[in-house]
Amino acid sequence: MWQTLSETESTPPSAVDEPIPRSLLRVVDLDANPAPPYRLFFNPRTNGYEGEFEHFRVKSNHIFITLSDGQPERRARAHPDDVYVDPRTHIARESRLYPVPREDKGSQTWRLTIGSYIGTIMFGHENTRGQSRWFLHDFPEHYELFGREKEPVKDGKPYRKDRYLHGCPSTVATAFRSPNEFTRHAMWLMDGMPRDEYGHSRCLCIYCNRTPSGDFAPQKPVTDELRRVRREILLRTVMPPSEEEDGNDELAND
Ligand SMILES: [Zn+2]
Repeated sequence: MWQTLSETESTPPSAVDEPIPRSLLRVVDLDANPAPPYRLFFNPRTNGYEGEFEHFRVKSNHIFITLSDGQPERRARAHPDDVYVDPRTHIARESRLYPVPREDKGSQTWRLTIGSYIGTIMFGHENTRGQSRWFLHDFPEHYELFGREKEPVKDGKPYRKDRYLHGCPSTVATAFRSPNEFTRHAMWLMDGMPRDEYGHSRCLCIYCNRTPSGDFAPQKPVTDELRRVRREILLRTVMPPSEEEDGNDELAND
């Protein structure tokens, strides 16, 4: 094949030829050129997977993300007596903002949900009976989960309880509002925050990957695609998919 020097110089290597990072995998990419899953080794002593990588490590199926874009000044402050103004109705309601400790069931539910996606999409392993479940050990540095209890909208209803992950840069979001919202962003951190040639984040979370007009896209298609990617990966591996999904969608407020 003849190729002049100028042609060689003017043709940058096509991004299509590069493997697609695991954090950016969509269903259509599974037949294209996905990066292989990160290879972990099974430790029979701990009965779980382990591995050490540039931006994360895994110990007995617990995932420690060591790279963060979290910002300390973006962490929320607890307000015991606060007023919450609903952004849609502009109605002010009594509310209470409080940090959710790691041991709290709400925090664990978030991290189990995120962990189960990471286990399959990043590593090619699902939750398996007899092993510890895939688990995000803690949120990345400067991220912190907060709970907010709001005054009921209607009399007789209990306080509404929502959880928010604070600490993300203001260019990304005020807070992530569900584990499904944060999953793509967590995986993007694990891959070393891949960016395009203009320096823009290639993260597929709704806050990084906005619509052309700059609005946030809805979360539902992102969640649907995460589930489909996970299911497809499981179908392509030797082990059949388990019945166990992230059965906490009611809590996930997505
Ligand atoms: Zn993101």
